[in-house]
Amino acid sequence: MQDPKEYISQHKDRFINELIELLKIPSISANSAFSEATHQTAKAVANSLKKVGCDVVEICETPGYPIVYAHKMIDPNLPTVLVYGHYDVQPPDPLNLWDSPPFEPVIKKTTLHPEGAIFARGACDDKGQMYMHVKALEYMIANQKLPCNVKFMIEGEEEIGSANLAWYVARNQDKLSNDVILISDTGMIANDIPSITTGLRGLSYVEVEVTGPNRDLHSGLYGGAVANPINILSKMIASLHDDNNHITVKGFYDKVEKLTKAERDKMGEAPFSLEYYKKALDIDAVYGEKGYTTNERSSIRPTLDVNGIWGGYTGEGAKTVIASKAYAKISMRLVPHQDWEEITALFKAHFESISPAGVTVKVTPHHGGQGYVTPIDSIGYRAAEKAYEKTFEKTPIPQRSGGSIPIVALFEQELKSKTILMGFGLDSDAIHSPNEHFGIWNYLKGIETIPYFYEYFVEMKK
Ligand SMILES: [Zn+2]
Repeated sequence: MQDPKEYISQHKDRFINELIELLKIPSISANSAFSEATHQTAKAVANSLKKVGCDVVEICETPGYPIVYAHKMIDPNLPTVLVYGHYDVQPPDPLNLWDSPPFEPVIKKTTLHPEGAIFARGACDDKGQMYMHVKALEYMIANQKLPCNVKFMIEGEEEIGSANLAWYVARNQDKLSNDVILISDTGMIANDIPSITTGLRGLSYVEVEVTGPNRDLHSGLYGGAVANPINILSKMIASLHDDNNHITVKGFYDKVEKLTKAERDKMGEAPFSLEYYKKALDIDAVYGEKGYTTNERSSIRPTLDVNGIWGGYTGEGAKTVIASKAYAKISMRLVPHQDWEEITALFKAHFESISPAGVTVKVTPHHGGQGYVTPIDSIGYRAAEKAYEKTFEKTPIPQRSGGSIPIVALFEQELKSKTILMGFGLDSDAIHSPNEHFGIWNYLKGIETIPYFYEYFVEMKK
């Protein structure tokens, strides 16, 4: 029997090549032109789970893309770990900003990844991080080191809001029963500063539509005499923040969790360089809510951002027109205790209330999810902490993330178990952006660390 490190060094090239094959399939869930590829990816994931030795592997149909379910049950009296991940990826646009094609993975060295990183859409989010779990299971089964039962649930709609996951989970509660849920779909601070995400922000996503006159009008004949929906929409959006960058939606902050000074001080201990942050983004100043640091603004505070805005004439040259309609897509990142459906309703009521005469406003909710916090004194967290200590030789820092994984709150509600977010990516891995990549060191470190989580979790559970 080998320890994870020995096994990985022996099988390293194969582990990398298998991931590369998976990354070649363009599983873009948002674009129906890639439907076949997305289904094909589900099959590839299912096959990989069969190959490492799962007893049961199923491709479960949903009203959308299928969910891959697999398990290896060794003893019903032992604990069960449920691994969640996703096989779909974000659209790769804008394609011209990629240095190499998004679905033709290449390995390149970077300053942060001197051992090389795999560049491809999905390398980090989430094919690479999901596949670490498949390979960790391979190690545990091949070396008789699997100390408990394991289930996998890998979905294909995470990047489009996990539309059918709740549907699936609600129908399969017994099948999915577990003692802890393990997800690698987040990052850590740096390769020499491991961290575990303990909090996630929730999300409310809406689309707004402002309608003025019943048709596009000549801006000379009508300009100045009727409400211009684009002007009005811009004004309404601008009013959603005050001079201190507080959000003006009535009731928005009512349930926001207030952290104590001690907690904020502890957060402030995480290494952070404002200079580096600005340099990485080519900005001369940061911007945000008064009274909070950059780290706090992007983790423990809620936000409201326009994600897209359109209307009128945007083609070449000029067209003198007052558009009949203007639109925007708006996302609100929420913190624990803010209920996303309540926030969506508050936004809708507020936005309708500030609409001036001369236009009508329509607010359409898209999707959302609740925020989440993992207690750092739970067995799951402590087992993960010990696993990182074993392989990184450092205690990981608990970290609140600005991102959202709405399904984590759903799991807690439906499956009554806590989720541990063992992410091995870096912020600089460019997930959702051109040139997404995942460090080979990170990939292999993940495979090495995961089996220790199982070992310590089962030990502490006794
Ligand atoms: Zn993801």
